[in-house]
Amino acid sequence: MTSSTTWAQEALLPADLGAGLLRADLGPGVVAGFTTRHGGVSPAPWASLDLGTSTGDEEARVRRNREQVATWVGAPVAFATQVHGEAVLTLGAAERAEWESVAAPLSAGEADGLVTAEAALGLGVLVADCVPVLLADPVARVVGAAHAGRRGLVLGVVDRVVDAMLARGARVGDLRAAVGPAVCGGCYEVPHALREEVSAVVPATWATTDRGTPGLDLPAGVVAQLSARDVPSARVDRCTLTDPDLFSHRRATAAGTVAGRQAGVVVLA
Ligand SMILES: [Zn+2]
Repeated sequence: MTSSTTWAQEALLPADLGAGLLRADLGPGVVAGFTTRHGGVSPAPWASLDLGTSTGDEEARVRRNREQVATWVGAPVAFATQVHGEAVLTLGAAERAEWESVAAPLSAGEADGLVTAEAALGLGVLVADCVPVLLADPVARVVGAAHAGRRGLVLGVVDRVVDAMLARGARVGDLRAAVGPAVCGGCYEVPHALREEVSAVVPATWATTDRGTPGLDLPAGVVAQLSARDVPSARVDRCTLTDPDLFSHRRATAAGTVAGRQAGVVVLA
């Protein structure tokens, strides 16, 4: 029996940028990882692996970039239209057929969580400062993904994905998670009142920025929520705001431009 602490320390494999993914080990038969901004075809300001459809980038380029990710993980990857909510979509065989087809959709529908027990159908979550969360039960063979920004974190989207996975046969004790690159607590400055509001719901988010101002640590909040459900997690400790290899909505906005979207991706092989 592996303790959650041991697992958290050992779960992250070394970055494998050659394959375009920061890989996460979610157990045998599960392929999981986080894309960076590298390896795609989009020009500036989306250069180059922009996977989002709401960034102003051209659809044809986003489709090519998504095909690149599909090649890396060995399966088509389904994405949702994320609305900072708590809705979870469970995808099955019909959706796999749809996403493998030449005319694959761009969105599975409005949701901030995706779950599937279907092999060879990837689940993707789009981010550029918010927290991408990937989950798997490699024994029951169920995977999930959550988009946890400030609002989703407060609404409990991570819990809703865990609930949907348990409903599909996953078991506490076999579930594990990977928490991807996001803006860190040292960088994510918010008004004092907002820090009070969010940390009242998720205490682990309470942070002070490197400038000494009120902040929020969203990845710490996600890790705490997972821990409360007895789901061990490993965290990719990279900050989107300061890491030039990653897209950051806040950094782009401050520079008067727009950011592309990177993704967390999980698939049952
Ligand atoms: Zn940071």
